[in-house]
Amino acid sequence: MLDSNKDATVSDRISNINSTSVGNRNWSRPPSGRALDELTKLNNLISSVNLSAHPDSWKFTLDPSGIFTTSTMSNMINSLKYGIHSKNLSLPLNKFVPQKVFIFSCRVIQQKIPVRCELNKKGIDLHTILCPLCDQHIETIEHVLVNCHKATLIWGLLLDWWNQNNTLISNINDVIISDQGFSHNSIGSSIWQATKWITCYIIWKHRNLNVFTSKEWNPVMIISEIQMQSYCWISSRSRKKIPIAWHQWLINPSSYVTSSSNRTGIG
Ligand SMILES: [Zn+2]
Repeated sequence: MLDSNKDATVSDRISNINSTSVGNRNWSRPPSGRALDELTKLNNLISSVNLSAHPDSWKFTLDPSGIFTTSTMSNMINSLKYGIHSKNLSLPLNKFVPQKVFIFSCRVIQQKIPVRCELNKKGIDLHTILCPLCDQHIETIEHVLVNCHKATLIWGLLLDWWNQNNTLISNINDVIISDQGFSHNSIGSSIWQATKWITCYIIWKHRNLNVFTSKEWNPVMIISEIQMQSYCWISSRSRKKIPIAWHQWLINPSSYVTSSSNRTGIG
């Protein structure tokens, strides 16, 4: 405010003499009182500033390269938000699910979902560590996503829908990693895996709704949500769009995936 030229640039006011910043001031009146304090702080801040002859440019100081990329930023946000860096993820990517579902699946494998059993291990005082859905067994991630009778209802409906009644769903490995059912077909396998991951994600979402808003556990509504959400996510994420018709997806996604993957040349 005291500069006589309000449009002065930083380089007009600082020059480097023998690697030391020297101020070229041009005050409208000499600084005094609080302004003098501020000037002292400013001088301390700029004492080590070394101006170059280059034009100003932006630098992304969070990365050593100084270059901003969305993937670097995305990794940093994920790292802070979920405690996971994509380079350390425990699962291969599945392009048919959004990142939040992928990261949720990684956290399931790493036992990092805040089920009551895990919160208890961290010393968090809970009134119970029993599963909020059945109130009979200790709530582990495997129990709430797979073995709780409320979850097995959902998996039963899912296997019926996919015509995969011979497929065994009995542990976390079966729902997150195993590709039984479509191991002969990479696209089918990826879409089946994506659907199982989305199912886990939505089961967990409804577990939370049940705990925090007392929302009733309604398997028919939940499987409908899984069908709709998986259709939206999977069909919109195919590089070459898989022409999955909604009614076909509902009637028998497995036969559709098996028969169309080679024909459409996806992947
Ligand atoms: Zn339970």
